[in-house]
Amino acid sequence: MDKEIAMIFHNHGLRSYIEVDLCRECPREDDKGCCGHYSPVFYPCDFAYLLENQPDLLRYILSQPGLTVLDYSITVNNTPEGDSYRCQFHSKTGGCRLEQLQRESICRHFVCPGIHWETEENLKPWKDFFAKLTDYENNLNLIIAQKLAQNSLTLRDKDNRQPFFQQLLKLFKEATEIKPDFFAAVPIYEEVKFKRALRFKADWPL
Ligand code: SF4
Ligand code: SF4
Repeated sequence: MDKEIAMIFHNHGLRSYIEVDLCRECPREDDKGCCGHYSPVFYPCDFAYLLENQPDLLRYILSQPGLTVLDYSITVNNTPEGDSYRCQFHSKTGGCRLEQLQRESICRHFVCPGIHWETEENLKPWKDFFAKLTDYENNLNLIIAQKLAQNSLTLRDKDNRQPFFQQLLKLFKEATEIKPDFFAAVPIYEEVKFKRALRFKADWPL
């Protein structure tokens, strides 16, 4: 069965995201779709956004059970449920409890291979944009992590998280003062529609 799918691309620089209307009636038919198989990982660029815009949410994340805290990242581990898992931020009735801008990058960019939007010729500028954005963000995270390491600052040191985050935000602002050219290569907002053949439950590829 072919279905028309609407996607909306949002260019917010480092906080860009993709919306898909099909997620509201995900063909996996298990009330969680791809969010049943993922544990969000927050990196320095995410921390910088939360520190500036949602410090209470950062405190909430740090208080959650089942965290994997490494030197420069925090994974909010999913919990077992049935034959898969459920992300701790996922609600059965309303989907993700985080606003788009609050989510980490995979959660803002990921669209399942069943939709495979990258094959649409008219979406090549967005494909290039998100590829460059991923490289840009990974590089920023690495640079910030290396500089924090030079100052012996790590998330594992619970007693020194305040200086860790203060320094992280300073480094982030310095590193992002000049915006990369590719930020202007796509519009702020674009809605597109195309058709895909649907399959259901485990036949819908994640
Ligand atoms: S599996 Fe695809 S359709 Fe389902 S929630 Fe994830 S991105 Fe949306
Ligand atoms: S944070 Fe939200 S979008 Fe990401 S896996 Fe969890 S429920 Fe899904």
